[in-house]
Amino acid sequence: MNYPVIISGGGIIGCYINIRLKQAGIESLIIEKTPKDKDKSENVRTISLNPNTYQLLMDIGISIDASGVSQIRVLDKEGSGKIKFLAEEIGTDFLSYVTMFNALSDRMQEKAGDSIMFSSEIKSISRSGESLDIALKNNEEIKGLLLIGSDGRMSSVAKLSNFISRDYNYDQTAFTFLASDGSSRDKSIASQIFSDQGIFALMPIMHKDKNLFSVVWSVPNKLLNNIDKDDFVSKYINELASKIDSELNIESDIIQFPLSKHHLDSYTNEGVVIVGDAAHSIHPLAGQGINLGFADAEVLCKEVISAHRKGFPIGSYSVLKKYELKRRSMNELMLKTMDGFVNLFGSNNIYVKLLRNLGLNLFNKISFMKVFFINHASGSHKL
Ligand SMILES: Cc1cc2nc3c(=O)[nH]c(=O)nc-3n(C[C@H](O)[C@H](O)[C@H](O)COP(=O)(O)OP(=O)(O)OC[C@H]3O[C@@H](n4cnc5c(N)ncnc54)[C@H](O)[C@@H]3O)c2cc1C
Repeated sequence: MNYPVIISGGGIIGCYINIRLKQAGIESLIIEKTPKDKDKSENVRTISLNPNTYQLLMDIGISIDASGVSQIRVLDKEGSGKIKFLAEEIGTDFLSYVTMFNALSDRMQEKAGDSIMFSSEIKSISRSGESLDIALKNNEEIKGLLLIGSDGRMSSVAKLSNFISRDYNYDQTAFTFLASDGSSRDKSIASQIFSDQGIFALMPIMHKDKNLFSVVWSVPNKLLNNIDKDDFVSKYINELASKIDSELNIESDIIQFPLSKHHLDSYTNEGVVIVGDAAHSIHPLAGQGINLGFADAEVLCKEVISAHRKGFPIGSYSVLKKYELKRRSMNELMLKTMDGFVNLFGSNNIYVKLLRNLGLNLFNKISFMKVFFINHASGSHKL
């Protein structure tokens, strides 16, 4: 088999690249490890898309059911500090759109259609001239000009191509589940509460008859030594929710993920390039993971399409390096910013707590800083 582009990983980012390139006349094959009819019973995880990501999806013809968030409130449970981010401060209707992860992933795989080879995985990668020879674990062989690794946090393409990864374990666990609130609160407000029990984020989800929310709660592992996850959640959930005058009922299983981050030292070799979670993973506190992946994918697609139209080799190092130069420093900045928040809000020091409360209130009053921050998080900087 011969394809100009081979994509390892048919997650949301891999499928986006396939669809975007196909619309520009470039065919690709997606190699996806899981079977087509994978068990999707765990339907708890949500994803919050920034306005830039939402627009990219619309541009490729994917419209989704999503809850628009017009206001994000950030509070410190232990003090009086708070910040409000409002969509109107940057002249948009919504700061983000919350949707179900599996629903979006299914839509993307449906649209990628026959381009996906399910239950397959790359075994080895070698070069002959401008062409790549890719052997799959089922012993099939494929030739291509460009291999894109969008195969997630444990990327086999990054490993087989010897990219160096800097890894860091936060020593935290994320709990994610659905919860409902009996009150008739504004459905377009998302909240984030920093506390001694971890970082608690509450995002609205569309539901026809319930006031439903998605919870992503990052908890330091040291708090979980002697307590079961369900007991921990039941014990503290309403202590935290009371900070926003809410009372929550748990509406689903509680799914847990260990929290770590990683960043590759470089994203490209001749003929091979890495995007999305395969290149970097980030703390979920600001819901930026998939948005960074979409920004990577869009910049890469633009470079590949431009090279293809000019008749340049699409897998050449000079074409792929342009993508890395545009994206790696932006991603590093976001990773470092999130670490700053994790450290600042993870501290139990009384002086740090006092300063962060003063800082939150001061930040809330300085509108140009807020606008700068929202624009960055919403992906409004030029790709
Ligand atoms: C608790 C939690 C909450 C989150 N919330 C948000 C949020 O609100 N907003 C947000 O932006 N981000 C969020 N994220 C991060 C977001 O889920 C990821 O950034 C995003 O899924 C990355 O997409 P991806 O396509 O790059 O990788 P993945 O989603 O990991 O997809 C990789 C694909 O590659 C396949 N694969 C893996 N290995 C191989 C292989 N060897 N060969 C072939 N295929 C392979 C996998 O089966 C999968 O289909 C959250 C993460 C967590 C853990």
